[in-house]
Amino acid sequence: MITIQNADLHCHSTVSDGTLSPEALAQRARANGVELWALTDHDEIGGQHRAAAAAKAQGMRYLTGTEISVTFIGHTVHIVGLGFDADDPTLLSGLRQTRGGREERAMEMSEGLAKVGIKGAYEGALKFVGNPELISRTHFARFLVESGVCRETNEVFRKYLTEGKPGFVPHRWASLKDAVSWITGAGGMAVIAHPARYKFTPNEEFALFTEFKALGGQGVEVVTGSHTAAEYAIYAEAAREFGLAASRGSDFHSPDESHTELGTLPFLPANLTSVWERLASRIQ
Ligand code: AMP
Ligand code: MN
Ligand code: MN
Ligand code: MN
Repeated sequence: MITIQNADLHCHSTVSDGTLSPEALAQRARANGVELWALTDHDEIGGQHRAAAAAKAQGMRYLTGTEISVTFIGHTVHIVGLGFDADDPTLLSGLRQTRGGREERAMEMSEGLAKVGIKGAYEGALKFVGNPELISRTHFARFLVESGVCRETNEVFRKYLTEGKPGFVPHRWASLKDAVSWITGAGGMAVIAHPARYKFTPNEEFALFTEFKALGGQGVEVVTGSHTAAEYAIYAEAAREFGLAASRGSDFHSPDESHTELGTLPFLPANLTSVWERLASRIQ
C-alpha cells in the first residue's frame, strides 16, 4: 500500500474561476511536492481529461474532481465530488443544469452594480471568463480590481458581492440531495467543502452534516485554505463524530489572489481516515 500525505484535492482552473490552465496547475502542484491531485472546478468537469493527462505526464496520481454549488436551508454550500466517472451522463447533465442560470444572474449583478455607478460590469467580467458557461462572482471581482474600484478581490466581495451588497443576486443552486446523488451515482465520493466558511449556527451545521450523511455523503474537508488551524481541529473532531473521511485541499485559484499555495498546507491530523484511503481503487 502506498502512503500519501501531500494530497491536494481542491483547486480551480480557467475551466471555472481559476487563472491557470489544468496543465499549469499540474506542473505547479508537482513542483510543490503534491503526490495526489484533483482539479475541482465549480459545477464543471470539462477539464478532467486534460487534468488527468497532465498529472500523468508529471508523474503524479490523480482523482477526478468537481465542486458543486448547492442551496441548503437558504444558504449556498459547496460539495466536492471526488473519484467519479468523468463521462457519467447524469453527472454531466446535472452540472450543465446547475451552470444554467449563471449568465442571467451575471446580467442582474451588472444591473445592481450600475445602480451604484459601476458601468459595464458584465462586459468587463466577461473578459476574464475562460468558460462562457461559467461566469462567476470571481470574474466580476477581477474586473472591479482591474478598473480600480477596489484594491483586491477580497475587498470587492466585502463591499459589492456578498449578501445585501449592490452586486449580490440571490441564486438557487442544486439541492444537496441531487448533488450527492450525481456524485455517488457516478461512482465517486461526496465531500462537504470548507464547512467553517458557512457561518452556520451549531444547529444548522448539525442539520447539514446529518442530512449529508443520510443522503450518502462520505467526506468532509478538514485541512483547507479556508480554515484556520483551530478549525482543522474542530472539523477533525466532526469527521470522527460523524464517521466521515477527511480531505485536504488548498482551494487555490490564482498565484496573484490565493493566499494558500498548492500542496503547502499542513498534513491531515492523526487518527482520521483520509478520503484517498477510501478512494484507493479510483486513483489514476
Ligand atoms: P459564485 O459561484 O459565482 O457565487 O462565486 C463564488 C466564488 O467566489 C468562490 O468559489 C470563490 O472563488 C470566490 N469568493 C467567494 N467569497 C470570496 C471572498 N471573500 N474573497 C475572494 N473570493 C471569494
Ligand atoms: Mn471559486
Ligand atoms: Mn468553495
Ligand atoms: Mn473552491
